[in-house]
Amino acid sequence: MSDSPRTFDVATLRAEFPLLSRQVHGKPLIYFDNANTAQKPQPVIDAVDDYYRAHNANVSRSVHLLAEEATALYEAARTEAAALLAVRESELVLTSGTTMALNLVAASFGPLKIGAGDVILLSGMEHHANIVPWQLLAARVGARIQVAPVTEDGVLDLAALDRLLTSPVKLLGLAHVSNVLGTINPVAEICAMARARGIYTVIDGSQAVPHLPVDVGALGCDFYAWTGHKLFGPTGTGVLWGRAELLAAMPPFIGGGEMIDTVDFERSVYAPPPRRFEAGTPNIAGFIGLAAAIRWFRGQDLAGWRAHEDALGARLRAGLDAIAGLRLLGDAPDRVPVYSFVIEGAHAHDLAMLLDTDGIAIRSGQHCAHPLLKRYGVPAAARASLAAYNTAAEVDHFLDALERQRRLLTA
Ligand code: PMP
Repeated sequence: MSDSPRTFDVATLRAEFPLLSRQVHGKPLIYFDNANTAQKPQPVIDAVDDYYRAHNANVSRSVHLLAEEATALYEAARTEAAALLAVRESELVLTSGTTMALNLVAASFGPLKIGAGDVILLSGMEHHANIVPWQLLAARVGARIQVAPVTEDGVLDLAALDRLLTSPVKLLGLAHVSNVLGTINPVAEICAMARARGIYTVIDGSQAVPHLPVDVGALGCDFYAWTGHKLFGPTGTGVLWGRAELLAAMPPFIGGGEMIDTVDFERSVYAPPPRRFEAGTPNIAGFIGLAAAIRWFRGQDLAGWRAHEDALGARLRAGLDAIAGLRLLGDAPDRVPVYSFVIEGAHAHDLAMLLDTDGIAIRSGQHCAHPLLKRYGVPAAARASLAAYNTAAEVDHFLDALERQRRLLTA
């Protein structure tokens, strides 16, 4: 991280992303699918390229120079992620992303604390990655899932949550930020409520880290899962943070090389965390890219970056309001620039396909959140999700195109 982050300037930022200057269907690309995955800046592309050109070797095994270099470059991801999330490296497990991190907690930690008749409480705005692993666990141990409701405005009903956070609830699964609604949940407040009642908390930070400063210790949760590709890093990279004493008590999730101290055919002695949970050859190039992504991100003027994102979000919100027949899903006061909506008479997939012909990439569908869409009574929604490299001109262009396509579809 540089000592003096440069002042935020969107043109300078964009220039670092080669893909942002390409054309699609003969039009300049407007990329509004950032909650799905973010584009990659040149330093990330260079780091991956440099690894394969100059350092390629397996990590943590051989003593030759290439292996030492590869291991140091790879382990830098843990160091960078620890700095980003303000946690200790020894408590950070490198995983292939949030999905793997949450599956790890459910499969390994789950049966230690959750048994027959217990309840796993989930918020009504969870991504499938924070639902299905708990269903698998519930089926395995005879537990039940309950749901904390979301209001029409897209915020968690804290009074209902307070009533639900009681015996026999053993664990709460909660998104820090909703990938559909953009809502920022009051995670610290909720974790304090849960902790006071002896309920474990597992936070899905996928959508939070690109938009908010995240100090995991201050949140007071027990586990925090995060994925690298939404923070401008390569796909197949992520981390699980867990409290040291909890990780220490957990059995391995996947067995194999690198997660053991000793093996013989009768039994094996497992390595301490985090290595215990890192069997097999990892996504080495990916984590080297992730280290570069975090280093690059932390070197930005993040206050300027967030102010720009907020201004873009407000501009988009005002423009969406002016479109006839448009219904926003949720409208939380505390939010990131992720907006899902439906338009009367225009299917979300049709809108997304027509916008694609204008060079605009948005997401349409159920956003891996079937229960939340059901809550709003819609089969599918369109979603525009912004990043700091987006511009006010792109927002205006998108709003014009959306209005044009709406007229076409509802004519
Ligand atoms: N949770 C949320 C809130 C997400 O937005 C996503 C990605 N769409 C995930 C979990 C899953 O992340 P990954 O696919 O990188 O494991």
